[in-house]
Amino acid sequence: MNDLRSLSNKELVEKTLILAREERRITLELLKYLKVIEEKRIYLDLAYDSMFAFLTGELKYCEGSAYRRLKALRVFKEIPEIEGKIADGRLNLTNLSKAQGLFESQKKLDKPLGLNEKKDFLENLENKSTREVEKEILKIQPVVVPKEDLRQVSESKKQLKVILDEELQKDLSELKSLLSHTHPNMSYQDLIKFMAKETLKVLRKKKGIESPPAEEKACVKVSAEKMVEKETDFSKRYIPKNIQRQVWQRDGLSCTETNATTGKKCGSTFQLVLDHRHPWAMGGEHSTENLRVVCAKHNFHKAIKDYGEKKISSFYDG
Ligand SMILES: [Zn+2]
Repeated sequence: MNDLRSLSNKELVEKTLILAREERRITLELLKYLKVIEEKRIYLDLAYDSMFAFLTGELKYCEGSAYRRLKALRVFKEIPEIEGKIADGRLNLTNLSKAQGLFESQKKLDKPLGLNEKKDFLENLENKSTREVEKEILKIQPVVVPKEDLRQVSESKKQLKVILDEELQKDLSELKSLLSHTHPNMSYQDLIKFMAKETLKVLRKKKGIESPPAEEKACVKVSAEKMVEKETDFSKRYIPKNIQRQVWQRDGLSCTETNATTGKKCGSTFQLVLDHRHPWAMGGEHSTENLRVVCAKHNFHKAIKDYGEKKISSFYDG
């Protein structure tokens, strides 16, 4: 493992790509073997009562992995043309197993999809993320939307079930991103609590009602770059508000870190900060050209590159 560290980053990525390709090839090969084992019912000879029991017992797959492989096998048996798409990664096991789940439940509902419909559906799933595949499935088989519901679940607690439309989902996730510095990993309960308190503050003030004193003060995380600058002249650290506004407006609420070769953009919305391309502590300016929006991870990663791992980690240890 140690000699892997001596490889260049480019070599590491290239070798990993080869390994991932090899892994997909093996996955496909494995499906072919499983197909014959199932057809010849060899698992029964080995005292397993099902292919699932064979995969978990004999092949030591966890239940989730066994399930995905078997569902994917069902699709592969019916539509062998997908072989090439599994090999090059256009279709993965998870997405195939989700598609098979849909085919099976449509059959149970007496609305089975025809072979060509299945082929078209799979073609539409190529290169899609699991979340996108789930959306495609919902187009064919919408979940019945339950009504809003508030029920007592313990002496002092109630459970609230609400439906979030797209606008509300967008607003809530923007709120989570904006609050992610002071309130990382907020649950929906935390978020509702926060919104209730903040709205009450505003409304009470409007009506002239006194608010009870606030209990805790949020712990504010500082960016990695700011930690280094603490050692330098802190008074000049302030980025003028109009510059900040222009950068946020230009870059939007997502990380701008981009892979120069592939053009892939990070896009994370978690703990966004303004980052100086040329570090401020090394003479970089507070200008729109020198500033950009990045997530906490990329901010930290860049700070390590700019200042060295030793210096940055000393801020965490100390
Ligand atoms: Zn990022």
